[in-house]
Amino acid sequence: MTTAAELVKMIKDEEIAYVDLRFTDPRGKMQHVTALSDIVDEDWFTEGWMFDGSSIAGWKSIDQSDMKLIPDAESAYIDPFYAEKTLALFCTVVEPDTGELYDRDPRATALKAEKYLKESGVGDASFWGPEAEFFLFDDVRFQVAINKVSYEVDAQDGSWNSDTDYEMGNMGHRPGLKGGYFPVNPTDAGQDIRSEMLSTMKRIGMKVDKHHHEVASCQHELGMIFGGLVEQADNLQKYKYVIHNVAHAYGKTATFMPKPIKGDNGTGMHVNQSIWKDGKPLFAGDQYADLSEEALWYIGGILRHAKALNAFTNPGTNSYKRLIPGFEAPVLLAYSARNRSASIRIPWTESPKAKRVETRFPDPSANPYLAMSALLMAGLDGIQNKIHPGEAADKDLYDLPPEELAGIPTVCGSLREALESLEADHEFLLKGNVFTRDQIEGYMELKWQEVYAYEHTPHPIEYQMYYSC
Ligand code: GLN
Ligand code: MG
Ligand code: MG
Ligand code: MG
Repeated sequence: MTTAAELVKMIKDEEIAYVDLRFTDPRGKMQHVTALSDIVDEDWFTEGWMFDGSSIAGWKSIDQSDMKLIPDAESAYIDPFYAEKTLALFCTVVEPDTGELYDRDPRATALKAEKYLKESGVGDASFWGPEAEFFLFDDVRFQVAINKVSYEVDAQDGSWNSDTDYEMGNMGHRPGLKGGYFPVNPTDAGQDIRSEMLSTMKRIGMKVDKHHHEVASCQHELGMIFGGLVEQADNLQKYKYVIHNVAHAYGKTATFMPKPIKGDNGTGMHVNQSIWKDGKPLFAGDQYADLSEEALWYIGGILRHAKALNAFTNPGTNSYKRLIPGFEAPVLLAYSARNRSASIRIPWTESPKAKRVETRFPDPSANPYLAMSALLMAGLDGIQNKIHPGEAADKDLYDLPPEELAGIPTVCGSLREALESLEADHEFLLKGNVFTRDQIEGYMELKWQEVYAYEHTPHPIEYQMYYSC
């Protein structure tokens, strides 16, 4: 436990000039305000810091804009990118008059979800291992990517495979299509940048363990070691922050957009999850794949509510371009110990402690606080109502005859469908006041704006298909 008193001492001893207060908006973007450290004493940590909440999309209106940030001492770290020495802190947003958690603050939702797990009696701790992938592009190369998607829709000439070279010169020494997964360098040109990202994460206190090139050209993944719900949601914000900033220092851009390139793998964020009770792993047992009954019900809850969950786990119009067959992203709402085409996989492990459920449909454009809280609420609903997930799907789902395939439900096909599904199915999120109706309404309002912006804009491919009709 880090206390306010320890941080005040640290600010003095280490001559820290600034304190940066960070919070996350409903869409998942980290925001901040900076205070001179001179004003920070122990009381400051409980009194909090006033700010204008009306400028955050989806929060308060201009006539009731005053809000307060309460810093979480436990979350403190020295920012590795600022020129002036700065202590960064994650904050929770509270109502200034009552001091109650603001119900549209995503971090508040995650805190309430952790509390609800204990109150429910199902477990006392949950563990989370999100695996967020990303692409790295040179700025110019990214322009080329857009053009390619727009005007050369079917071209797959392999010129995408160098992580550094977007010119069309002699490509003989370059890896072939999908050749980046995972030979050593120089084929893998991302080694140094990924190492710098991982080392930076380690320096700011994150528990990380590995990095590798991913299947698509220019696609990468770094590994975080599992942790609690709020802890991991904070860590995902740090993960993205470090990746964006190290990429920037290398003259590149990082993107967590789920499907930046047509015809290649998209960007997923598999979420590994488990629950413990009385110091024991609740998901280990003697049922299918050495799971417990509770774990099967948890899976049942996620599959039952998957379409509503998509509004949080796959929250953009672009998310649904990833959830198509053929690119290791799931489409079918099924579970399996072996099958990576199922929405839920049970990773093989000998250790009951490591027994976990891997949900594969989420992507990293999700707000991590909301997405993981919603997954937990769906799983808990499954346990509370003993929702059995049915038979496991151990065949390759895409090899099934069409009649059998047609009987298996799927994830949503669009953000529109996900929002309609959330509208129809959100009671499970309201238990314990974890999510509130007001919050879900505010969130949907934001997301409908994105649906309309997308649906009302002519797409480049439409010019190709219809311009000369
Ligand atoms: N990129 C894949 C997805 O979209 C996952 C690939 C992998 O991690 N094996 O989910
Ligand atoms: Mg992985
Ligand atoms: Mg991966
Ligand atoms: Mg995985």
